[in-house]
Amino acid sequence: MKTMTFDPTRDFASQMDADDPLRSFRKRFHIPKQADGMDGVYLCGHSLGLQPKAVASCIEEELKDWATLGVEGHSRAQHPWMPYHRFVTEQMAEIVGAKPLEVVVMNSLTVNLHLLMVSFYRTTSERHKILIEKGAFPSDRYAVTSQIRMRGLDPATSLIELTPRPGESCLRDEDILESIGREGRSIALILLPGVNYATGQAFDLKNITTQGHLRGCAVGFDLAHAAGNLQMQLHDSGADFAAWCTYKYLNGGPGCIAACFVHERHARSWQLPRFAGWWGHDEKTRFQMGPDFHPMEGAEGWQLSNPPILALAALRASLDLFAEAGMERLRTKSRLTTDYLRYLLEESTFGGFSIITPREPERHGAQLSLQITSGDRGVCERLLAAGVTVDWREPDTVRVAPVPLYNTFVDVYEFSRRFAAAMQ
Ligand SMILES: *Cc1c(COP(=O)(O)O)cnc(C)c1O
Repeated sequence: MKTMTFDPTRDFASQMDADDPLRSFRKRFHIPKQADGMDGVYLCGHSLGLQPKAVASCIEEELKDWATLGVEGHSRAQHPWMPYHRFVTEQMAEIVGAKPLEVVVMNSLTVNLHLLMVSFYRTTSERHKILIEKGAFPSDRYAVTSQIRMRGLDPATSLIELTPRPGESCLRDEDILESIGREGRSIALILLPGVNYATGQAFDLKNITTQGHLRGCAVGFDLAHAAGNLQMQLHDSGADFAAWCTYKYLNGGPGCIAACFVHERHARSWQLPRFAGWWGHDEKTRFQMGPDFHPMEGAEGWQLSNPPILALAALRASLDLFAEAGMERLRTKSRLTTDYLRYLLEESTFGGFSIITPREPERHGAQLSLQITSGDRGVCERLLAAGVTVDWREPDTVRVAPVPLYNTFVDVYEFSRRFAAAMQ
């Protein structure tokens, strides 16, 4: 990509918006208003993505089919409920760079992490540890420590937590690989994020997986902050499994159904232990209601229950937009808006904060994390009062994410102006 010369004026930002090939997508979202009735500056898609306008009609279609068809909707709805989860499989697989056989939407993220650890956290007396980051999302840490205890083991001896070097906020790739090299023979599972929720640091999935597999470790990723944000080649990374939610960059709505990936090489690994439910049973014989479990091939074999159709309807509306825009174009715009954000912040003279997200393009996505020197979380409240939605992560971080589907360069410009005022 050619390097862009930026300019710190509103006119420049407006011109960038006028030239943006994805500019028409913003109109297809509900943008929360600020106090004066104008569109607010919403830079919080890393936490909860905005609502595509098409969501309402997609959900209404299912409500109508349920009202008019009752149970017959399973086969006769306009989008029959029986195979409904498959209406999003191909698009979801495309978003993360996987094959459709490797992807299924089901449950919620933490539930999926547990189900996948049942299968891929296999311990022996020599190999029993899980490698995570010290700064992992709390739910992931709770999940792995409870999995360790379920095996009769102790997190004090079976959990390794990677820590940044003193004075640094992010992990260095070489330190991750060095830990895997050093401790690999005792590690059963490496579980790292695609993007760290607090720092915005992106991880090198392929390199981590390759090094982990060389040492005989299983490798899984939590893609909560990566799916719909980074362009990934999940299949080619070789990872054993991954899981992600759909309410952040994927705009599925609060608490929407999550997704998971199980690499093709495990598609017929019938010997893997797994928690079973009827929706994971071979669909050809599922309704014979027999006593013995025969799993579906691929990721679908990890399903437990028939899925929530109303949540899937919302997700279907959202993923249509991703299919139309394409991750490559989204990522191209995302790099520009986030680089523009960094540029404006670095041009500013008021100080009192530092950007902790790595600078290299392959080491971050849409989000920049700003460490506030004073630790004053009032800055987020002042921004909200000024019509800007970002969020705060303890102890001292403001997270800001321009999302390429609906944010503009003018949003980024307005953020920088109002952030300056909120800091003074
Ligand atoms: C958002 C997020 C979660 C949330 O988990 P749910 O099960 O969806 O509530 C978990 N892990 C990470 C890394 C996240 O970013």
